[in-house]
Amino acid sequence: MNTKYIFVTGGVSSSLGKGIISASLAKLLQARGYSVTIQKLDPYINIDPGTLNPYEHGECYVTDDGAETDLDLGHYERFLNVPTSQANNVTTGRIYQSVIEKERRGDYLGKTVQIIPHITDEIKHRIKILGNKYKYDFVITEIGGTVGDIESLPYIEAVRQLRWEMPDESLVIHLTLVPYLAASGELKTKPTQHSVKLLLENGIQPDILVLRTEHELSKEIRAKVARFCNVDIKSVIQSIDVSTIYEVPIKMSEEELDVQVLSKLKISFKDKPELKQWKTFLQKRQNAKEPIEIALVGKYIELHDAYKSIVESFEHAGATNEVKVKIKWVVAEKVTRKTAGDLLKNVSGILVAPGFGLRGVEGKIQAVKYARENKIPFLGICLGMQCAVIEFARNVLNLQEAHSTEMLPTTPHPVIDIMEEQKSITNMGGTMRLGSYSCKIKKNSNVFKAYNQDLIDERHRHRYEFNNTYQDEYEKAGMKATGINPDSNLVEIIEIENHPWFVGVQFHPEYKSTVLNPHPLFVSFIAAAYKYKQSNKN
Ligand code: GLN
Repeated sequence: MNTKYIFVTGGVSSSLGKGIISASLAKLLQARGYSVTIQKLDPYINIDPGTLNPYEHGECYVTDDGAETDLDLGHYERFLNVPTSQANNVTTGRIYQSVIEKERRGDYLGKTVQIIPHITDEIKHRIKILGNKYKYDFVITEIGGTVGDIESLPYIEAVRQLRWEMPDESLVIHLTLVPYLAASGELKTKPTQHSVKLLLENGIQPDILVLRTEHELSKEIRAKVARFCNVDIKSVIQSIDVSTIYEVPIKMSEEELDVQVLSKLKISFKDKPELKQWKTFLQKRQNAKEPIEIALVGKYIELHDAYKSIVESFEHAGATNEVKVKIKWVVAEKVTRKTAGDLLKNVSGILVAPGFGLRGVEGKIQAVKYARENKIPFLGICLGMQCAVIEFARNVLNLQEAHSTEMLPTTPHPVIDIMEEQKSITNMGGTMRLGSYSCKIKKNSNVFKAYNQDLIDERHRHRYEFNNTYQDEYEKAGMKATGINPDSNLVEIIEIENHPWFVGVQFHPEYKSTVLNPHPLFVSFIAAAYKYKQSNKN
């Protein structure tokens, strides 16, 4: 079958969940046996979100091929259980960069370079490459932002052209909001009507409308939207608020979003999507026994999206263990020798989060100390692992001024130091150690028990590393390097003996946890935390 292109636009408000709707539709099509990929087009001018503060846009998600991308790609992978790549996330900055590079090379010699056709052609090329090169059955392209935004206009125009060029091989789904006015007890469709008008002004007639709502939409409301917006009533799909994003595919299946898509593209179908494993996950999630509380110590705590993949990894690992993981959000800067006991007293596990820069580091180090001394299960990710190494140096090896050269370049004990190949790099974007690298795991370790294999691949995003000149000292004192990169000898995992579960990883396991493949380190961490809670009950 020729690749079919589905465009997902949004109107009325941002944050309606275009990413989750796209991922849910993709899941349903995949569950009918099709190969599907999802792409996000971001209208901002940064080349990628790698240089953005997480407060701006939430977590920066990293793919196997080392692309720093929008957090929606994390949802795509968690839903589809298929890796994404650089091709799945394109920003305006990247589009302009390639057009300008072509202009300098003389590719357009003699011509005026313009938004139409040059920028729109580049956008169309980036959309179609997923079909042409990778031969997916379906490419779902999510257009970031909201219709009417100045910066998303070239994307909307590219969609208009593609719909014209491929009328039978493409369709547009528009996601809007139907607000509820509590005072009058009414659901209002006018914003949706206006939003569709705006799309029509840009030459796009949506084929399917997905309406986000807090209350059930009556048949009358659906009929009204259908009439005003030129769509079939069956193509007015309700997306009602649910308790977890993982229920959205089930809801979309009940609303027959996939059936509408297949019928409009004239693809015959019979069976229902095969969602057995997905439903088992939801069932386990519901069966969850008593809650356990895990502290997440980080510096962007006010914005939970900054730790999106970690939160979702806890969801997957919780369901696997059939426990309800409750996150206690702990602001790193607030953790001191004095406050640690109060802030962390009832938790069954402590996760110290990734991060950059000095702010909050001393608090993270105090949280590590508390976990180590009180034998509370601990997982340190990237900077979290580096903090564990610094804490051990200061309080066990007696190197009181130990630090990372990222925070204190003049430290006499640089136990975490910049990687050799990073020293000469001056550009900021895309220059860290990024993407997938192998790691050899030592047997007789908690991580070996978790993975049950000795060679793994995990994704990275860092500039600093464990300083191998200190390795002997650490090993003798009980902090073991249990995972090493076989090519570069970089320490990727540390563990502490005489502690039930104390693991620090230089990589980011959270990027690889999916519903069908919960990450073994998170699963094992939650199992250890549950055990800790059971044994400390009385
Ligand atoms: N700032 C640290 C480094 O660059 C850790 C990065 C991270 O936590 N992702 O090595």
